Amino acid sequence: MNLSKNVQRMQSSVTMAISAKAAAMKRQGIDVISLSAGEPDFDTPQHIKDAAIRAIQEGFTKYTVPGSGIIELKEAICRKIKRDSGLDYGLDQVIVNNGAKHTLFLASAALLDPGDEVIIPTPYWVTFSEQPKLMGANPVIVQTRAENNLKLTAEEFERAITPRTRMLILNSPSNPSGAVYTRAELEALAAVAVKHQIHVLSDEIYEQLVYGDTKHCSISTLGEEIRELTIVVNGVSKTYAMTGWRIGYAAASKEIIAGMDKVQGQEVSHPSSISQKAAVAALDGPQEVVAQMRVEFDARRRYMVDRLNALEGVRCTLPQGAFYAYPDVSSYFGRRAGERVLADSVELCAYLLEEAKVACVPGAGFGTHPHIRLSYATSMQNIERAMDRIAEALGRLRA
Ligand SMILES: *Cc1c(COP(=O)(O)O)cnc(C)c1O
Repeated sequence: MNLSKNVQRMQSSVTMAISAKAAAMKRQGIDVISLSAGEPDFDTPQHIKDAAIRAIQEGFTKYTVPGSGIIELKEAICRKIKRDSGLDYGLDQVIVNNGAKHTLFLASAALLDPGDEVIIPTPYWVTFSEQPKLMGANPVIVQTRAENNLKLTAEEFERAITPRTRMLILNSPSNPSGAVYTRAELEALAAVAVKHQIHVLSDEIYEQLVYGDTKHCSISTLGEEIRELTIVVNGVSKTYAMTGWRIGYAAASKEIIAGMDKVQGQEVSHPSSISQKAAVAALDGPQEVVAQMRVEFDARRRYMVDRLNALEGVRCTLPQGAFYAYPDVSSYFGRRAGERVLADSVELCAYLLEEAKVACVPGAGFGTHPHIRLSYATSMQNIERAMDRIAEALGRLRA
């Protein structure tokens, strides 16, 4: 039996595979600390849950019209965008989907033809490179440099463009690196995108999770021409601790939104009616819940990065956003644990899981080999214990 060529070309999610292995060890009674999670450890705020319970009790449990999202939620999304980016989008320029991952998929489905190229800078979220393959399009991975804080420069972007280039995927704040593009950096990228008429799929799911003086800037705000080319992707998963509710959304030109709507209508009809009501409460309700989570993430971020930099041979820049640390651990490659030689980030993560009982994700999965990703979306106590164990396990390695 042969699966389709496009499906054969796709890879399964490495982050999901690590989480599954850690979960299997936990079921065997092993005390594994998971730093591989890609979701907030906080509970969904009560007023959001209440809105969902009300929706169920009021019988809001049928197919919704329109399939592209209930009007109430689209209006809340338009208000949110106006509040945070100052931009006006109409109801026909936004769409609600089953999580931002689905939103990204629909953007690829609406815009990509077989043979089209999609530029993806490293390190990239594992999904970015795989979704375009299902459309028969080709990911073009562009290596970024440590001296640019692992961000794509306008020169690197322009050099990667060919007559087949259709789209650039940007993710700021970045999963996994935590890097945040400045307004000036985005202006330079936008100029190249406009010059060559390339769409920008801008994943801004961590928009609200930026720390210190860092400001999030959406590339869509940098002029009418770049806004026409950009699909802004966002959702409630990371900001409101609502990963299980599956609500993501996009803002883009009405032609692109109509294309995405056409695919969604034939694919899943629409996202859950109940979750849509909850998302209205999240976007329109009190935003202090987000500020509280941000303060807690910030404290964990500083603690984890200090502990990492205290380890011999580990270098970690302070992430400006999201909830991951992304240290360069390559000085440990080639070291020995008994007979075993740890050649790369995959083997180092396997060693840390088996010996330290700490789950981290190898940088290889994100397209940069020297790094590993550690999530600080877990309690301070877990981070402390995990860092003690990592320090002990790395200390046992021999040159
Ligand atoms: C978590 C995550 C998403 C997906 O979020 P959902 O709305 O839960 O599908 C999208 N992009 C990035 C970079 C993420 O880390």
